[in-house]
Amino acid sequence: MAQAKQIFRILIWIVFLSASTLGLLRIILPNWLDIETAKIISYFYWSGLLLVEIVLAVLVVYFFVKKPSRRTRLVTLSICHFTVFLVLPLALNDWTYTAILYPWPHTLQAFDAETSKTILWLSLFVGFGMIPLISYIWGRKAFCGYICPHGAFISETYGRIFKQHPERLVILNKIVPPIYFSLMTVALLVILILPETLTPVRSFQKVVFLITAELLYFIVLVPLVGGRSYCNLICPLGYAIKQISTFKTVDSPNQQTDR
Ligand code: SF4
Repeated sequence: MAQAKQIFRILIWIVFLSASTLGLLRIILPNWLDIETAKIISYFYWSGLLLVEIVLAVLVVYFFVKKPSRRTRLVTLSICHFTVFLVLPLALNDWTYTAILYPWPHTLQAFDAETSKTILWLSLFVGFGMIPLISYIWGRKAFCGYICPHGAFISETYGRIFKQHPERLVILNKIVPPIYFSLMTVALLVILILPETLTPVRSFQKVVFLITAELLYFIVLVPLVGGRSYCNLICPLGYAIKQISTFKTVDSPNQQTDR
């Protein structure tokens, strides 16, 4: 049984590795590839992404049955994740809907030329209005516990198939999130002051996001540290939420690891 679980874990890890690697190649290689090869990489990337979503959906069902105490969280996170990742993009043929629940400082996707004004305003509302407000009222558990389609959802699904070692690499949580948040602040100011810099800034930010939030997180940190590794050691949005929630007078004592 233990061996079967290990094989199952490795297979899922390979699915995440393939999709994350193809995602990165798709962004950094097009300038050096002919159109046909770029199309093939893109095709495999989208297929890999779909496979990842199928695996995640299976894990949702599995943990819904196995972890009754986590059901409310799992349901709200699944709704948020699949809505912005699959339902809205597929139904409306617009893949920029992820920007709504991946607002600045998590990404700069809201500011892309292909992002519609509606999605831009929704993303700004979520990033600068809703998240600060609910974090101030309810602390980090609100967005980082029940809404975030990235770290929170991944930690309740893919993250649960690996052992948790939150004590590992803790040194990074003092250094990386504030630096990352500062860089994202500078990036936002640069594209607001000099809109013509959007394309290069966004290209660079996309690569940073793919390396940290996907490749490093899915492939190295989740197996090595656990599902909340990205949240605790890297995420610039989590860092902003943490700063806002310090204004809250009453907070849960276990919020660091149980968001
Ligand atoms: S720390 Fe970042 S990735 Fe983690 S739940 Fe919060 S916003 Fe999402």
